[in-house]
Amino acid sequence: MPGFPPIPADGSGMLLHRASVPAAMLEADLGPADADGLVLADIRIEAGRIAALTPAAATAPEGALDLDRGQVWPGLVDPHAHLDKAHIFPRAVNPDGTHPGAVKAVAEDRAAHWSAEDVRRRFTFALRCAEANGVVAIRTHLDSHGPQAALTWPVFAELREEWRGRITLQAAGLVSITDYAGEEGEALAARIAATGGLLGGNTRIPDDNGEKLEASLDGLFRQAIKHGLDIDLHVDESGDPNAATLGPIARAALRHRFPGRLTCGHCCSLAVQPPDVADRVMDLVAEAGITIISLPPVNQYLQDRVPGRTPRWRGVTLLHELRARGINVLIGGDNCRDPFYGYGDHDPIETFTDSVRIGHLDKPIGDWPAAVTARPAGWMGLPDHGRIRPGTAADLVLFRGRSMDELLSRRRGPRIVLRNGRPIPAELPEYRELDDLF
Ligand SMILES: [Zn+2]
Repeated sequence: MPGFPPIPADGSGMLLHRASVPAAMLEADLGPADADGLVLADIRIEAGRIAALTPAAATAPEGALDLDRGQVWPGLVDPHAHLDKAHIFPRAVNPDGTHPGAVKAVAEDRAAHWSAEDVRRRFTFALRCAEANGVVAIRTHLDSHGPQAALTWPVFAELREEWRGRITLQAAGLVSITDYAGEEGEALAARIAATGGLLGGNTRIPDDNGEKLEASLDGLFRQAIKHGLDIDLHVDESGDPNAATLGPIARAALRHRFPGRLTCGHCCSLAVQPPDVADRVMDLVAEAGITIISLPPVNQYLQDRVPGRTPRWRGVTLLHELRARGINVLIGGDNCRDPFYGYGDHDPIETFTDSVRIGHLDKPIGDWPAAVTARPAGWMGLPDHGRIRPGTAADLVLFRGRSMDELLSRRRGPRIVLRNGRPIPAELPEYRELDDLF
């Protein structure tokens, strides 16, 4: 790769000299970080693992590979994806690009095309993109409506095994939360539990005065507690201030003394609610220990989209205000080349770059890089991922960009992905490979 020193392909070990590492992902005290939150380090790799981390030596040690201050990140983590929907864009047309248009287009495509083989092909394509980009772990949501659950969850279980050691996979069921009631809901929860998944769903209930929401949340929490499962929900993905289920979710978690990990994705409408209302909701979110996942590129794509009218708001939740309360805030890629988002490449660096611009996550950038590395890894229960520390696998992403400005200005800039200390092929699969599905 031009610009990089020659990285040995055989995993025989190396000393990376002058690596700029974000302090937010570094578990070693190497001195103060610069204004971009970066620390200059030497990283010794032996037998596929990080053997030592030291402050960068003043002169290059014998045999060292000089990165010339290029950044080094740990393997990337995407906490919220939809790999079962990925890449249906060519055959599932969302005529107006809106959220309702996406829901309709996906439902039609699912009914017509989502065989086990179709899901497996697209899901695998997505994983290959993610791996080439340096991703080591993904949580995906899986459409689990009616008969689809019996098709998709076994494919997920197979792929989770097939990709073990390359990309760690977790999955949450995606239905309406009203669907966990009754016999079919019991069966779905049991299937998810048997596959080692999580309960998830959309909390928007049409024509509800709050009663159905309350009852559905009670049912959901009871199922999760019964099976010992975590919960990961799609919440208030709307610019309508009356989409306000986040507060009731937090109250339900407190009411049930929910012992698992509760996550709420999107929470867009929090940003358009009156400040005092939003403050009270965020206090409840903090009290209930909820993790919030923001999906800025997709929110910006879908929210406030009205044909022929220029969007007036960015669609994202209150990222800074949630963080200021100490709430765990993660950033995810969400959809990729489907009716909910026509773009994307399973690349958390692209997601992060867009999110910095959309959400003003700079000035200072602080520990925001941890939102696509250390924080989602810890939240997925993977303490050895998403961080750089001695003893862990040398799963690293090497960039030429030295400062955050250089890295984030050229998001498709050169990178080398190391897995267990060896560079992996950088080629992304060709879209043409999927042509026969369309
Ligand atoms: Zn989603």
